[in-house]
Amino acid sequence: MIQNVVVTGKSGAGKQPRIDVLISELGLTQVSTGNIFRHFLSLYKKLNTGLDLESIWDSAKSEFISDEAISNLLKPFCDEKNVDVSESVLGAKATRFVDAGLFVPDSITNALFKAEFIKNNSRNMILDGYPRTVDQSAFLLNLCKENGVKIDFIMLVDNEDEAIIKRTTGRRICRQCGKVFHIEFKPPRDGKFCTSCGDEVIQRSDDTVEKIRTRLNEFQNKTLGAIDVLLSSGVRQVVVPGNLPVFTDEAVKESVMTKITEFLG
Ligand SMILES: [Zn+2]
Repeated sequence: MIQNVVVTGKSGAGKQPRIDVLISELGLTQVSTGNIFRHFLSLYKKLNTGLDLESIWDSAKSEFISDEAISNLLKPFCDEKNVDVSESVLGAKATRFVDAGLFVPDSITNALFKAEFIKNNSRNMILDGYPRTVDQSAFLLNLCKENGVKIDFIMLVDNEDEAIIKRTTGRRICRQCGKVFHIEFKPPRDGKFCTSCGDEVIQRSDDTVEKIRTRLNEFQNKTLGAIDVLLSSGVRQVVVPGNLPVFTDEAVKESVMTKITEFLG
C-alpha cells in the first residue's frame, strides 16, 4: 500500500490534475503548504487577540519567547473561542512573520507541517509544496523515521519554462465565481467575460512574466536541492509530463497510472 507521495514540479507545471488522479485512484489526501498556512493563519485571526505579536518575540535572542509563555497569553482567547491552544501558538508564530511580510523560516514551516502530518496519522498523504528546502527534506525524512512511515515515491511533473510562461500569462480568472480561462486555449466570452456567470475575468497579480520567472528560479535554486536530499536517501522518483498532446481527464490519468504501477504492488 502507498503511504505517502511527494508531488513536485515548477510552479505552473500542471501538478494539480496529477494530484487529482492520485486522490481519486489511490484515496490519498492532499496536504499542501499553502493550505496549511491558511489554516493556521485563519485560526489565529479568529482569536482576535489584539496582541502586538512582537510581544511574543525576544528580539535580543532573535527567537520566540517560550511556548508556555505564549500559551498563557493565548489561553483566555482559546477558551472563549474553543480553539486548540497548541495550534494557536503555531498560528501566532506564523502570523508574526507573514503579517510583517517577513521571510518565514524553515523552523516555522516545519512545525506547521509536522502538526498537519501528525493530524493525518502520518500516512495517506500527497505532499504538495513541501519539502522545498534542504532543511525541510531532512526534517521530513526524520519525521517519517520517527513515525515508522515512508515516502513511497516522488512524482515530478515535468514542463518547459516557456510552456509554463505561455500558459500562466494567458490565464484569466472570473472575479465572481473563480472559473479559470485561457485567452488562447479556453477563451472567455468576447475575450473578457465569464461563460458561466457573465462577470468580468481578471489576471491574477501572481501571473506576470516577472513573478513567474522568480518562481521558476526558486524551483531551480532551492526545490531541486530539496528533492536531491530525498533521492539520496533512496526515495525513488517518477517523471510525468506536464504537457500532453491531448489534455483530457483520461489522458492525464493514464500518463500518471502507467508510471506508478510498480509501486502499487
Ligand atoms: Zn464567473
